[in-house]
Amino acid sequence: MEKNTSIEKAAELIRQHSRIVFFGGAGVSTESGIPDFRSVDGLYNMKYDYPPETILSHRFFFEHTAEFFRFYRDKILITAKPNKAHHFLARLEDQKKISGIITQNIDGLHSDAGSKKVYELHGSIRRNYCIKCGKPYESTEMHKEPFPLCECGGLIKPDVVLYEEPLDDLTVRGAIQAIVNSDLMIIGGTSLAVYPAAGLIDYYRGKDIILINKSKTPADYMASVVINEAIGKVFGEIERILYPLQNDEGKDY
Ligand code: ZN
Repeated sequence: MEKNTSIEKAAELIRQHSRIVFFGGAGVSTESGIPDFRSVDGLYNMKYDYPPETILSHRFFFEHTAEFFRFYRDKILITAKPNKAHHFLARLEDQKKISGIITQNIDGLHSDAGSKKVYELHGSIRRNYCIKCGKPYESTEMHKEPFPLCECGGLIKPDVVLYEEPLDDLTVRGAIQAIVNSDLMIIGGTSLAVYPAAGLIDYYRGKDIILINKSKTPADYMASVVINEAIGKVFGEIERILYPLQNDEGKDY
């Protein structure tokens, strides 16, 4: 009963606003089958010689390059499809209701769903470049064993922000701009535990926040609506409220 009320309230807020900023994390991708690094059933349970945080660090990339890429190919460079959460946000952007989509995920699924105003705080597995000459490479190149090399002999590095590396300045500034310009913030699929990314929500100046996450977060007290459920499911229900006629059963999402 209470849950339905929250979903209706969230739908009403989304209906009323036209400069919505979305701030999302790993939970947005779990429904596409991508494991969450930090959740119990995420990557920490996997058998590797080092914890994921060590493997996905700047130092490890250069000191144990082959081991890094073995893990990268196995756990990070996986094929996935956008889910209801990605599709719903793309639909809102089509309706000119989106100020920006800020994600901590590196899987590129928001772009796959058709979103344009995407700020990938931690980079993307879709972009790769030679660390010597800067030449860009397709992700397919990254499957080469033991590690991918440029024609100039340089190592090819995925454009993802590794541990020990700073966030990209332009991306952060774009994300802050999107937040400052927004009139409604939706935080979804993130426990807001990863800094500095999580600190960006402090730039929000609007009145309402919708928070959708399976577990509690430090920002729950700031939100007008808190829904502790999977975000794809919640967005699916909100979409049915907002666009009841267009949603036929046979559709792909
Ligand atoms: Zn090169």
